[in-house]
Amino acid sequence: MVSQMTGVDAPQSEHRDLFDVAVEQFEIAADVLGLDEDMRKILSYCQRELTVNFPVEMDDGSVQVFTGHRVQHNGGPGPTKGGIRYHPSVTLAEVKALAMWMTWKCAVVGLPYGGAKGGVTVNPKILSQNELQNLTRRYTAEISIMIGPNKDIPAPDVNTNPQIMAWLMDTYSMTMGYSVPGVVTGKPIVLGGSEGRNEATGRGLVYAVQSGAAALDMDLSKTATVVQGFGNVGGTAARLMAEAGSKVVAVSDQHGGLYNPAGLDLAGVTAHLARTGSVVGYAGADAITNDELLVLPCDILIPAALENQITAENADRITARMIAEGANGPTTPEADKILYDKGVFVLPDIFANAGGVTVSYFEWVQALQAFPWTEEQVNERLKQIMHRSFDAVYEMARKHHVHMRTAALMRAIDRVAEVQRLRGIYP
Ligand code: NAD
Repeated sequence: MVSQMTGVDAPQSEHRDLFDVAVEQFEIAADVLGLDEDMRKILSYCQRELTVNFPVEMDDGSVQVFTGHRVQHNGGPGPTKGGIRYHPSVTLAEVKALAMWMTWKCAVVGLPYGGAKGGVTVNPKILSQNELQNLTRRYTAEISIMIGPNKDIPAPDVNTNPQIMAWLMDTYSMTMGYSVPGVVTGKPIVLGGSEGRNEATGRGLVYAVQSGAAALDMDLSKTATVVQGFGNVGGTAARLMAEAGSKVVAVSDQHGGLYNPAGLDLAGVTAHLARTGSVVGYAGADAITNDELLVLPCDILIPAALENQITAENADRITARMIAEGANGPTTPEADKILYDKGVFVLPDIFANAGGVTVSYFEWVQALQAFPWTEEQVNERLKQIMHRSFDAVYEMARKHHVHMRTAALMRAIDRVAEVQRLRGIYP
C-alpha cells in the first residue's frame, strides 16, 4: 500500500493549497507593478505539469506504486531549474507552487533560468538504500522526457542528497549513452559537483542576514537566533550564524526542539543527531515543541524546515525582529500581514534561500565548461550576488513602501515579464 510509505511526518499546516498561496503572493506584487492582464494570465500558470505513477520493486520482492511530479513553471529566461523533494506530503499543488517560486528565485538573483520543481510522495526514511535507489532511478526515467542539461536541471531538496543526484545523473546518462554531468546539480564533487554547494543555501542565507542586519543597524554579536529544521539548510545556517557571532539558542527537527537561552553547543547537537537520528534528547538543553520554538524570545528566526509554519495563529506571538526564510513558503499570506504590521523584517524565501540555486548555477557552468572553481571563488561570488540582490530588493521595498516579499517578487516578476514580452508568443 502506498499509504504505508507515506503519512507519518506530514507538516503542520493550515491545509491551504500552496499554489493558491503562490498565486496570491504573485497577484499582490503584480498589482503594485501594474502588470497587464495578459501577462498576469501567462505567469500565473505553470507551463508544463507531469504526474507519474510508477512501480518500484521492494527488498521483500513486493511491488509498490509511487506517485511523483515534475513541473516547469516558466522556461522564458532559459532552462528551468529546481529541486526534487521526497516527502509524504508532496502534492501536485505543492510542486507547482515550488516551481513558480523557483522562477522568481532565479530572477531575483539574476540567474538565466526559469523555475521548475519535482517531488515524490514517499517517506524515504523507511526505505532501504536499495529501495531508494530503485525509486530514484525509475522516477528519473519517468521524468526524463522533461529534464536535460539545456532543458530542465534538477537538484536536491527535502530528503534528497548528493547520492540521489548521482543516481539521477547516472540513470539519465545511461539512456543517452554518455556521461551528462550538467543534467543535475548538487552532485558529489567527484562527479562534477561544486565545492561549496552542500552548504550554499545556509551560507547564502547568512549573507542575506548580514545584509539585513546592516540595513537595520543590528549588531549580530548581540543577537539570539532560533532555527527551525536542522537539515542541510537549518544545520548550516545555525553553524554559520554562530560563526557570525549570533547566539543560537534553539534548533529543532521534525521530532521536536531544543532550547538553551545561554546558547547551544551546536557541535554537541550535531554529534547527538548523528548518533541518534534526531536533535531531541540532547542533554544540554530543554525540550520544546516546534510550535513553542517559533515564538521563543529571539532577534532572528530562521524557519528552515517546511512550508506553512508561521501562520495567523502564531504570527502575533513571534518576537523576532528579523525572519530569514530558509524554507520555501514557511509564512502564510495572513501571517505576512501580521508580521508587516508588527514591523518584523522578513527576508523572503525567494531571496533568502537563493544561495542554493545560485551555487547550483555555478555548478552547471563548471560542468558545461569542465572547469572547476575553488571553494573560495564559489563563496565569494555567492556573497557578491546575495549582497547585490539584497540591495536591489531593499531599495525596491523602500521606493514602493512594500514589504520585502513583495519587493523581491516585483523585481523577479518584472524581469520575467520583460523576457516574456521580448520573446513574444509563438506561433
Ligand atoms: P533536509 O531534509 O536536509 O532538512 C529538513 C529539516 O526539517 C530536518 O531537520 C527535518 O527533521 C526538519 N523537519 C521536517 N519536517 C518538520 C516539521 N514538520 N517540523 C519541524 N521540522 C521538520 O531539507 P533541507 O534541504 O534543509 O530543506 C529545508 C527547507 O529549505 C525546505 O523548505 C526546502 O525546500 C528549502 N530549501 C532547500 C534548499 C537546499 O539547497 N537544500 C534550497 C532552497 C530551499
